[in-house]
Amino acid sequence: MARQPPRNRKPGLVVIGGTRARRALGAVWLVGAGPGDPDLLTFRAFNALRGADVVVHDGLVSEEILDLAPSRARRINVAKRKSRHTLPQDDINQLLVALALDGLNVVRLKGGDPFLFGRGGEEQAACREAGVECHVVPGVTAALAASANAGAPLTHRGSAQAVTFVTGHAAHGEPDLDWTALARPNQTVVVYMGVSTAGLIAERLMAAGRAGSTPALIVENASRADERRVLTTLSGLAEAAQGVKGPALLMVGEAMAMADVRSPPPLTGEGGREAAEGALAAERAPSVISPGGELTPPPLRRGGEFK
Ligand code: SAH
Repeated sequence: MARQPPRNRKPGLVVIGGTRARRALGAVWLVGAGPGDPDLLTFRAFNALRGADVVVHDGLVSEEILDLAPSRARRINVAKRKSRHTLPQDDINQLLVALALDGLNVVRLKGGDPFLFGRGGEEQAACREAGVECHVVPGVTAALAASANAGAPLTHRGSAQAVTFVTGHAAHGEPDLDWTALARPNQTVVVYMGVSTAGLIAERLMAAGRAGSTPALIVENASRADERRVLTTLSGLAEAAQGVKGPALLMVGEAMAMADVRSPPPLTGEGGREAAEGALAAERAPSVISPGGELTPPPLRRGGEFK
């Protein structure tokens, strides 16, 4: 069974016979925070957060989710530093390792799933190399929330026999994708990080044979209060992508014709999550939703350096 996130972990370990206190090794938890709505966090992600000494997060994670970490937990935003530049990946890797070697329980909180365009693999490799324990908690990736809210299945009998997740990020001028494979009909292609290359992607897909009339759905801010959906066609994708500012997915495929572009009704009515939490609390499920005990935070040796 996977190791559960520690709760109320004691910060230090005294070496018997030694002359000074030594910290136990910490661990790194690569945690998927889901697409934004805290309702889409897993219980395991929630528990990992509750056991965090430090939360290292990027810009896609909402305040509402960060607020679930204990108040003692230090937050480090690696996406928005003073210079507004993201901390380079190598520095993030080193930061995670250094914090864990310092005895801290490090939660590396990522939007969606850590292993889907999340660079979780690199962080895990850095931990492995340094001999730091590393655990991965899966998250709901943006495509699943976008598809669910729109009522547009990613696979559907008769119109989508496969789904492919690709990145539209163009590291070398244009996305390095197998256009012929992606142009085959009856499959859904979900493009992450593809808003700025939407025109190019549509052009390449059509040049490779995908019909310009193929339904295409753009979902911006999936699962958040400001979620927006635009249903268009492959030939209209570039134009429809203009004006998209938040994180968004391009979803191309016959099954996207099923998308409902109206706003979704709230899942559990007004104050849904609060009501659900209240009901659970009443049933005394403390291991799941009650706040963990507050520990005095172990001091961070490299205090301030990464803030
Ligand atoms: N690991 C994340 C993806 C990170 S890559 C996941 O599994 O979802 C960042 C891209 O993800 C964004 O450019 C956007 O394309 C997509 N994305 C992340 N959150 C989103 C959201 N709430 N709505 C729509 N797209 C989102």
